[in-house]
Amino acid sequence: MFINGAWVDAIGGETFEITNPATGAVIGQMPDGDERDADAAIAAAHAAFASWSTTTAYERADILMRAWQLMKDRAGELAELMTTEQGKPLKASRFEVGYGADFLRWFAEEARRITGEWLPSSRPDQRFLAVRQPVGVVAAITPWNYPISMLTRKMGPALAAGCTMVLKPAEATPLCAKAIFEILHEAGVPAGVMNMVTAQNPVPIGDAFTSDTRVKKLTFTGSTAVGRLLAGKAAASLQRVSVELGGHAPFIVYPDADPEQAAKGAAALKFLNSGQACISPNRLYVHRDAADAFVDTLTARVQRLVAGNGMDDGVGVGPLVNDAAVDKVAAQVEDARDKGAGIPVGGYRLTDDGLDKGHFYAPTLLTDVTPDMTVYREETFGPVAPVVVYDDVDQVIELANDTHYGLAAYVYTQSLKTAITAFEALRFGIIGINDVNPTSASVPFGGMNDSGLGREGGHEGLDEYLETKTAGISLR
Ligand code: ADP
Repeated sequence: MFINGAWVDAIGGETFEITNPATGAVIGQMPDGDERDADAAIAAAHAAFASWSTTTAYERADILMRAWQLMKDRAGELAELMTTEQGKPLKASRFEVGYGADFLRWFAEEARRITGEWLPSSRPDQRFLAVRQPVGVVAAITPWNYPISMLTRKMGPALAAGCTMVLKPAEATPLCAKAIFEILHEAGVPAGVMNMVTAQNPVPIGDAFTSDTRVKKLTFTGSTAVGRLLAGKAAASLQRVSVELGGHAPFIVYPDADPEQAAKGAAALKFLNSGQACISPNRLYVHRDAADAFVDTLTARVQRLVAGNGMDDGVGVGPLVNDAAVDKVAAQVEDARDKGAGIPVGGYRLTDDGLDKGHFYAPTLLTDVTPDMTVYREETFGPVAPVVVYDDVDQVIELANDTHYGLAAYVYTQSLKTAITAFEALRFGIIGINDVNPTSASVPFGGMNDSGLGREGGHEGLDEYLETKTAGISLR
């Protein structure tokens, strides 16, 4: 673990193993911490806040830029580590390292734009000043599906704002977190400013983070159930909360869209990270006029996808995180099959050629999907593309909005009017319009309803780590 600028063992002396999800091989060990280690990390972050929060934005930006450069220099080895620990194909890991690094550069630039306001008063002899200051110690809990970019999306703005931080990375991917901490340390982040506690059981750490009044903000990315639980605990301590949670993205193909282009987009997007993404499309609404061409193109694309170890050339789909994830996907597919879905491609666990040692499910296409199927309502987090054919263009937004989630949605149309109308009416935080990658460090990312609170990235991503202080100044 990394506490107060040093690599340390867990106070209890225990460790846990990290495995490669493609092969089952043990690839490392990390300290298995508990609430005592969390307390030491919070104490270090609390002590470091006084000096870090008074550094200039220029100093903080320089450190973040050095860390960005180091990430770029080491992109190859970081990507290999990510593929070994998390499973996604090497090319996708490289992309994530670049995306993750960009949060450090973006927030280095934003650090110098933390400004205040001179405000009017109703009294002629009074002036008002409002400035923004760092909130204090931030606790971060991050997931395994994007093990580097989900860290830097929180670290970048926290450090830029002048906050100090304690992090608990997901138990499946602490080695990626360790590599990023080594980089931040080398870039010159002072002792105590960034601390990391690792553990196999997240509960005592989460409890310690959310019950400690030295912690002023909780930032979490993960499932809706855990986010809700942690936000509730943080509320009792009056900590600020940002939670980026699950999704159930609709992907709407209008009758005027090019069905082949839409199917190519859907294939590229759905099978990214084996479908283990909160912005992964979960309901592909295709107008009847476009359905045959769309399904034909998508079927051909899915058939071509090769599942396997992400280190191997030509592999487009890696393993799922664990066996429980494979079981969940298999159960959703069986439920859909029982209720009448067609399965032109996939629909089974992959076990041949050594894949039984990892956690693989075949890239799968479901057709004739209906609202009574579990896959229509629940997040799949797996390589399954469910197609729903619709007839009424005026009703499709209502269908798309019929979910308690609200993270991402996608629209394919050639009509500007249709695109803008859909953009305005969809109750989701991120909308791709003829575009399957509506994310960047420079734009806000986050959801509505059960998909979360707050935004990460963009200039809003920095606001989450700042609070406003007002001065009333008398001229009498
Ligand atoms: P996923 O279903 O994507 O694994 P989780 O919400 O279970 O998502 O995990 C996201 C992060 O939340 C991980 O770092 C995990 O260790 C942590 N986590 C899970 N359960 C708890 C909990 N009860 N308290 C604190 N952290 C938790």
